Amino acid sequence: MVAPELLPVAAQTNSGEFYTIATLGSHSALQILKGAHDEGFRTLAIANLDTERLYRSFAFVDEVIPLARYQDFPSLVPELEQRKVIIVPHGSFVAYLSLGEHKRMTIPYFGNKAVLDWEASRELQRQWLTRAGLRIPRQFRTGSEIDRPVIVKLYGAQGGKGYMFVRDAHDFEQRAERLARQNYILQEYIIGVPAYIHYFYSPLTGKLEIMSMDRRYETNVDSLGRIPAAAQEGMNVDPSYVVVGNSPLVLRESMLAEAYRMGEDVVRVSRDICPPKGLFGAFCIETIITPDANFYVMEISARIVAGTNPFIDGSPYSYLNYSEPMSTGRRIAREIKNALLSNCLGCVLDDSSVVP
Ligand code: AMP
Ligand code: AMP
Repeated sequence: MVAPELLPVAAQTNSGEFYTIATLGSHSALQILKGAHDEGFRTLAIANLDTERLYRSFAFVDEVIPLARYQDFPSLVPELEQRKVIIVPHGSFVAYLSLGEHKRMTIPYFGNKAVLDWEASRELQRQWLTRAGLRIPRQFRTGSEIDRPVIVKLYGAQGGKGYMFVRDAHDFEQRAERLARQNYILQEYIIGVPAYIHYFYSPLTGKLEIMSMDRRYETNVDSLGRIPAAAQEGMNVDPSYVVVGNSPLVLRESMLAEAYRMGEDVVRVSRDICPPKGLFGAFCIETIITPDANFYVMEISARIVAGTNPFIDGSPYSYLNYSEPMSTGRRIAREIKNALLSNCLGCVLDDSSVVP
């Protein structure tokens, strides 16, 4: 086992060549690359024509490769496979690359790609979370079963749009026409407050850390509350959850033990479903907390989430574990560095990774 704080800074390979940490220029790239730079790595942002100038403006970004569109990333793969590059994936990789494209690339990749299948399918996610003893919203098979408020989620709904709310079975019947010929799920609507909990699990030390927490700023749902309910009547506004930013959050301390337990159990079960490595590195459990202090889990994200961005300088929780600013992006770079220094880079990479 490695004691992370005690290791030297230079992230050099045995041959003296530096490794480069690379990611797509979006989402949490600034945090990832700043963290990589602070841990002694070279940094590469793969930007597009709109974002190139932004990423070049930061001194900690050593190199920028512009692409016409992020979806063109696969055309860059052969070049990157020749270099000592390690990819740190984030939400834009999932948004712009297919599962197949993810799996085909052999660039050293931080994380376990096998988890992607379990994350991409709502049904497999439910199995995973249930096996870990997490509470999830009830799902209804048919409209006639609905006995409480329901959120209707269309399959393939992306970017927070395409939701509908139903009060009861009768309400559903009246709106069923709108849903004809569409694939959707009927999920119990949990009335509570959202809390997104960010974790880091180290395969090198076997330890789980709570890194930080956030809540999202979403339009237009976060603006609907600013219009009195009576004035909303007849406006016919479709609620959307498109994210525009994130705010920091700290949890009531008596609820922290359950948040930690949920993270540990999700990691434990992941070793059964994606053996042998399971889920490691950064991940996030998206919860709604009810008035009786129960966590309901909406989703799990198996990599760094953009909700960690308010904490580039560290969070109240990371400060408890580190006496220096420790963002999730820097924590990832620290883990890669520790793996290099203990001659086990493979311990923190997907098994498809070919290290040049
Ligand atoms: P982008 O590269 O900004 O298009 O984001 C890629 C994916 O990450 C999309 O699914 C976004 O909804 C999600 N995302 C981006 N930024 C945030 C954020 N600040 N909080 C939560 N999710 C985000
Ligand atoms: P999702 O598409 O699961 O990321 O959900 C988008 C937004 O809807 C998030 O802000 C969640 O907080 C909220 N949400 C999703 N499912 C539920 C649910 N069953 N009950 C309450 N809120 C939900």
